[in-house]
Order: sequence, then structure tokens, then C-alpha cells
Amino acid sequence: MRRREFLKLSAAAAAVSPALLSCAGGHGGARQIGKGGKLTLRYYPYVVELQHTFTISGFSRDTTTVILVEISYDGVTGYGESALPPYMTGQTLETATAFLDKVDLSQFSDPFETDAILGYVDSLAEGMSCPKCGIDIALNDLIGKLLGQPLHRIWGFSADKTPCTSYTIGMDTPEVIITKTLEAAPYKILKVKLGSTEKDDKMIVETIRSVTDKPIVVDANQGWKDKRYALDMIGWLAERDVKFVEQPMPKTVLDDMAWVTERSPLPTIADESCQRWKDVARLHGVFNGINIKLIKCTGLREALRMIDTARGLGMGVMIGCTTETSCAISAAAQLAPKVDFADLDGNLLISNDCFSGMKIIDGKITLNDLPGIGVTKL
Ligand code: MG
Repeated sequence: MRRREFLKLSAAAAAVSPALLSCAGGHGGARQIGKGGKLTLRYYPYVVELQHTFTISGFSRDTTTVILVEISYDGVTGYGESALPPYMTGQTLETATAFLDKVDLSQFSDPFETDAILGYVDSLAEGMSCPKCGIDIALNDLIGKLLGQPLHRIWGFSADKTPCTSYTIGMDTPEVIITKTLEAAPYKILKVKLGSTEKDDKMIVETIRSVTDKPIVVDANQGWKDKRYALDMIGWLAERDVKFVEQPMPKTVLDDMAWVTERSPLPTIADESCQRWKDVARLHGVFNGINIKLIKCTGLREALRMIDTARGLGMGVMIGCTTETSCAISAAAQLAPKVDFADLDGNLLISNDCFSGMKIIDGKITLNDLPGIGVTKL
């Protein structure tokens, strides 16, 4: 414990001023934090069980496989998570594990050299955003723990500025949709999965509207194939107090999507079309905003860059998730003070969460003061 206190004090001193450090007798303790040992990586699969069968445009599932990642340094362990939803990235337990097997973090002796470490990890293979994300989260959690501060504080974000989160209702029968809508009473915004037939899409919205007047946001998951049909649907939704529409059309039809956005009465948000930082600028003028997910963009380091770039282009930003544990959700929540809209309910939809972390209180994302991503392993 004494050593931990010393490390925290040293890191705080290093953050203050190089001049102060030299007054204090040369190079401060932050260097000692970074030179004392080696980084070690551990990972193992975990099957997340869903409370309800989850159906979106094109897929249904009852479980999501994730890989839990741990990076240790000098007796301190950071936690990370790589969710592998079957429809989103094409990455599997086999391919993600094969990637992680190639990662050698023992060559690094300074955990604060995140640019070098995560740059090395990113360079090992094209794609593989999910396992890269698990390493990024674990390394950032480790950094926060070594400094004794939550990441949002290290980045300078106010915990008071977090938005409410939406609660997702998948495609289902009218009876189940009513049950799920009533179960969502603690949440102030509903996210509705559409992108099926016109009849089913309208039934889902009308069913929800028959029991609540809460704001709704819609995710069509690429389900509407024709631009005029997509625009008609958005117009119909705008008359039912829908706030925005996520990924109305297939991810590659950017000309058609720009046509829809130009005429749309509601903001349009890119999800499947927006994977990593390099995508943000090319989506300017195609969508009004982007949905950042850590497993798409390789983690927190790149997510911060995406937020800055989108803001510079005048685009809206939302932070999303998949069905995953409170580890990955709490990591994403560290970014919540900087986004317009959050869809961080993935841990609420599962029945075997193995972490405790960020809580939703009165519908609002509520960050705790624990260091790093703010989680405790259960
Ligand atoms: Mg989406």
C-alpha cells in the first residue's frame, strides 16, 4: 500500500510541472512507474447470457461471446473486454484469440507509452478491432489505476455532463414489445430496432406509442434498401416523436444516404457505415452524426480522436455498445460527458454480468470515482 501511495504521489507530481520535478530533485516518480517491470497480458473467453432473445434486422441471438482481457504491471491489473457480436464485425472467438496470441506486451516496460503500445497492437493485423479494443480498455484501466484517477478525470471531462442512456427494445410480437416497454420504466428514452417490413416496423412503433409517449430513437440497422422508402419512413417516424434515425440504409450506399440526409426531417446517424477514425471525415455530408462503438474503432484512444474530428466537422456524436458486461460499458461511459447521446444499456440486457461499474440512476449515466474505467470484478 505504501508503494501504491508513493506511485500516486509521484505521478501527480509528474503531471504538475517539469520545473517542479527538477526542484524536487530531478526526474520524478512517473518515470519510476514506467520503468519498473514488464506488461503481462492474459485473456479468456466468457459467454454473456441475454435476458431476452434479442432480434434486430436480420439476426436473433440468446448469447454473446466476449473475451475478458487483463494487463498487469507491478502488481496492478487493468481490465478490458472484447465483445464478439455475430453480426457486427465478422470477428470470432477463433480469429480474435489467434490475434491475441500474437501480441507480445513483454517488450514494453512503460505502460504510459500508450501510443507506442497501442500503435504496435494495431500494426499486427488489419481489422481485428474487437481484440484490439480489449487491449486498449485494459491498458487505459491500468493507467487510471496507476494514477489513482478515473479516466474521465484524467481526460478533463466533468462527470456531471453525462447524458441519459436509451434502453433498447428489439423486434418482437406486440405482447412482448408492450412487456419490454413497461420494463423500461426507469429509462427516459427508448431505442427501437426497425428495418423489417413496413407493416412490422409501423406495428412496433404504434405498439410502443400505445403505452408510452417517451422519446424514441430508431435504429434501422441498414434495413431500408430504397432511398425514397427510407425518406418516407423517416417522415412517418418524425410525426411520432422520434428524435433521430440510425443507419437507415446499407452501409455502402453513401450517395443514396446523402440524398436522404439532405431531405430528412430527422437527424441521421452512421453506425455500420462508421467503423474507425478514418471514416469520420468521409461521412461528413452523408450523415448528421456518428455512433462510436469501442469494438468497432479499437478502443478509447481512437474514440477520443473520432469525437474531436466529428466536432470539428460539426457532426453529432453518440456512443453505443453491444450486449457486453459492465467492463466494456463502463469504459465507454468514461466518454459520455463528451457525447450528445448515449446508448449504453448492453449490460442491462444480460443476466450474468461479472463486473460492477457505471450505474444508471434516474435514467442518467452516473460515473463513479473508482480509478481507470471504474469497475470492480465480481
Ligand atoms: Mg446501430
